[in-house]
Amino acid sequence: MFNSLSDRLQDTFDKLRGKGRLTEDDINLAMREIRMALLEADVNFRVVKQFVGRCKEKCMASEVLDSLTPSQNVVRIVLDELTQLLGSTESKLVLAQNRTPNVIMMVGLQGSGKTTASAKLAYLLKSQGHSPLLAACDTHRPAAADQLATLGGEIGVSVFRGDGKDAVKVASGAIQEAVDHLNDIVIVDTAGRLQIDEEMMQEAVAIKQAVKPDQILMVVDAMTGQDIVNVVTEFANRVDFDGVIMSKLDGDARGGGALSVREVTGKPIKFVSMGEKPDSLEVFHPDRMAKRILGMGDVVGIIEQAQKVADEQQAADAERMLREGFTMDDMLAQMQQIRKMGGLQKIASMIPGMDRAMAQQPGANLDDSQLTRIEAIIHSMTKEERAKPKVINGQRRKRIAAGSGRSVQEVNQLIKQWGEMNKMMGKMRGMMSAGNSKKARR
Ligand code: GDP
Repeated sequence: MFNSLSDRLQDTFDKLRGKGRLTEDDINLAMREIRMALLEADVNFRVVKQFVGRCKEKCMASEVLDSLTPSQNVVRIVLDELTQLLGSTESKLVLAQNRTPNVIMMVGLQGSGKTTASAKLAYLLKSQGHSPLLAACDTHRPAAADQLATLGGEIGVSVFRGDGKDAVKVASGAIQEAVDHLNDIVIVDTAGRLQIDEEMMQEAVAIKQAVKPDQILMVVDAMTGQDIVNVVTEFANRVDFDGVIMSKLDGDARGGGALSVREVTGKPIKFVSMGEKPDSLEVFHPDRMAKRILGMGDVVGIIEQAQKVADEQQAADAERMLREGFTMDDMLAQMQQIRKMGGLQKIASMIPGMDRAMAQQPGANLDDSQLTRIEAIIHSMTKEERAKPKVINGQRRKRIAAGSGRSVQEVNQLIKQWGEMNKMMGKMRGMMSAGNSKKARR
C-alpha cells in the first residue's frame, strides 16, 4: 500500500535535501510534485488542493526559507499536514459504560470486507476480554450468514442467525440472545450492495432504529480510490456513522481513499485491515501511518507487533538458547515468528528506508519464499541433526538437499548462517557470565 506515493514523496524530499538554501521556486516545484503524487495515488482532487495549499503556505513562511535547515522543515511541515489529513490522533472505539450489551453496527458496500471485518473486530474485542456476539443480518447475500458462522467458529465467537430472513428481526433477536448469554457486545453485520441502493439504505436505517447502535462503523475497501467520496458521503447522509474501517490495505492499493476519507466526511479511520487472517485488524494511528508514507519507519509498530506474538515460552526459549546454544529448531521457530509478525515484507515496510533500499538493490527482495525454503531444509533434517547441526557432514548435506528439493549450496548456506548465529550466542553468553562474575566479586 502507498508504495508508489511513498516513493514519489521521498524522491521529492531527496531533491530538496540536496540543496542548501531553498528558494520560492524550489518550494513551488516540490509542491507541484507532491500534488501530482497525491493525484496519481487517487486522492480526491479537492483534498489534494487543500492539502497542498496548506503545506505551501507554511513552507513559504520566512522562518522556514531562512532557517538553517529549510529542507528538514519542509519535510516536517508535510509530515504534520499528512498526520492531520489522516486524523491527527488515534480515534478509539467508544463503548457505552452504562449499557449492556453495547451494539456495534457495520455498514458498507458488498465486497468491501464487512463480514470479514465484523469477525476480526469480534476477535480483537475478545482478545481484550470482552464477550462479543456476532449477528448475521446480511440476509440478502445467501452465503453471508454461512461465511460469518464459519469465521465465528474459527475465532470461537457465537453467531446469531435468527430466521435468516428479516434483518431487523435478526438484529433485535441478537440483542436478546446477548442478554440471555451475558455477551457484552453485539456486532451487527448488515447487507451491502454493489452500489448505493435505496432498499439497502432503508434497511440499514431500520436496523439502526431498532437496535440503537452505540457505534456505527463503515467498512471501506482501500482499493476504491476516488469513488470513495460519493459512497461515504451517501452513507454519512443517510445512515450516518462514527468511524471507518479501511479494509484491504495489505494489497497494492494506491491509498487515495484512505487519504481522502477523513477530510471529506470528517469521520475518523478507526481501524485498518491488513489481510485475511482474524488478527489482521489494527487500530489506526495517523502519525505512524504518515511516517511510514514518508519513509520514516514505524518503530513503535514493530515493537508492538513483536510484543503481540511474544509470550512466556519465548522468554524461556531465549534463556535456554543463551545457556545451551542455538539449534536448528530454534531457527525454525524464528522463521515462524517472522511469519506471525506478518512476514519479511511487512517488517521491512515498518523500518525507515528499508523498503526503498530493497527496491533499489536488485536481488535483495524480501521474499517470504526464502522463509519457506529454509523451513523445507530444516524439516528434512533428523532430530539429532536439528539439535546438533555439527554432525551434518557432506553425505548428510546431500541427503537433506534431496529431501527438501533444494540445492546442496543452499543447505551449506543455512548451516553457515546457523554457525554465525551460534557464535553470536556464544559471545553473548561469554559477556553475560563475565558480567555475572564481576557482580559476584563485588
Ligand atoms: P462483504 O461483502 O462486505 O461482507 O465482504 P467480505 O467480508 O465477504 O470480503 C470480501 C472479500 O475481501 C473476501 O474474499 C475477503 O476475504 C476479502 N478481504 C476482506 N478484508 C480483507 C483484507 O483486509 N485484506 C485482504 N487481502 N482481503 C480482504
